[in-house]
Amino acid sequence: MKTTGFRSFVLYILLFAFLGGIGYFLFNLVMNGDRWVAQPYNGHIYASGTALPAGTITDRTGMILAESTDSARVYAENESVRRSLLHTVGDSSGYISTSVQAVHRSDLMGYNLFTGLNRTIFSGFGSNLQLSIDANANAAAYRALEGRRGAVFLFNYKTGETLVKVSAPSYDPMHVPGDLLDNTAYSGVFLDHTLSSTYTPGSIFKLVTAAAAMEVFPDWETRTYNCSQSWTVNDSAVTCLDWHGDLNMKQAMGHSCNIYFAKLALDIGAEQLQETAERMGFGDQFHFDSITTAASSLDLSTASDLELAWSGVGQADVMTNPYHMALLMGAVANGGTVTEPYLIGRSNGTRYDLLDRSTAEALHKLMRNNVDYYYDYSLFGGYTVCAKTGTAEVGGRNPNCWMVGFCEDTDAPYAFAVCVEDGSSGMYTAGRVVSAALNALY
Ligand SMILES: [Zn+2]
Repeated sequence: MKTTGFRSFVLYILLFAFLGGIGYFLFNLVMNGDRWVAQPYNGHIYASGTALPAGTITDRTGMILAESTDSARVYAENESVRRSLLHTVGDSSGYISTSVQAVHRSDLMGYNLFTGLNRTIFSGFGSNLQLSIDANANAAAYRALEGRRGAVFLFNYKTGETLVKVSAPSYDPMHVPGDLLDNTAYSGVFLDHTLSSTYTPGSIFKLVTAAAAMEVFPDWETRTYNCSQSWTVNDSAVTCLDWHGDLNMKQAMGHSCNIYFAKLALDIGAEQLQETAERMGFGDQFHFDSITTAASSLDLSTASDLELAWSGVGQADVMTNPYHMALLMGAVANGGTVTEPYLIGRSNGTRYDLLDRSTAEALHKLMRNNVDYYYDYSLFGGYTVCAKTGTAEVGGRNPNCWMVGFCEDTDAPYAFAVCVEDGSSGMYTAGRVVSAALNALY
């Protein structure tokens, strides 16, 4: 009896170990199977030296952005389209980890948990994906960057469709440069700067300082400050491009007066400015097509008056992410709430509350006033645009040039954020990129 009992015990142990192992394997198969099939050691898909045919990727009009032929993965016919969409579509080596070809690799290969890759292996085709992107508008925005580094994001703030997403530097995925890994011109080329980078915002941050003032000063519209081009704080000068004299908010936003917003930031106080910025999404990571984005940041917890003054005009240590800025513009346009942009299929319904309605409406009016009275209206063609420019000083080279804004037009509800490094001004350098994208979409 004793021996039988012992043998049963051992058998039970073996049985549990076996079932546990099967369970562990099945769990991992469900969780990771899609990634396993795409690994280079899968002989079924890489036997001939080229990857299994993956599905075709098209833009919103059906233009082919990537497809598989018998021997290779090929990309759009037009070189500007290929370069402008490198970070969205992806490359053949998997360098761009946030691209559709990396994120949706198993979908493109037609992987299914129950049938694996059988369907694709027999038919020779993966699953096709159509993107919400407009390829021609991306190419136009890319060309308007004129070789500069930068980030362009434009989406429909009513539906969440992403229309333009360009990151530079870029390269042609059909002719990968031999010095890609060594040439400093390509440093950071594998990052999608719209999603994964942050930049000094300069004057576009004045929208945040203005929003904080709206919350604490009931008289914010009539409150005036004097600009005499230079103002001394902590024995150091805060400077402005011009001598603006007495200004109210509307005039200060139009002229983008540094002294006005520096003085305003000191009156608002570090704690309140920090709180408003955080409510507007600073410090938060957002999501785009299952990618987590880089957070905009500011930390005023130990800021001196001088640091607070410069932070109020988007200098000092303030950093912003282009995708977040586009979301914020969507929120201003849309009464404070914005739908998360998407790239494939349709909206997942995620919404972000970044402003209360009254603040959104007040910022909307200020941005409309900027374009009506201060900006080069001809940039925007037939659109009714509301915008704010930024020309952010960065050490050692020309400024970061920003333009953020949105169109009021009901048939073209676009919100955008454009940042171009090493340019001349927000209006001139970034404005031309916005103009090129909008004209291509018209
Ligand atoms: Zn000024």
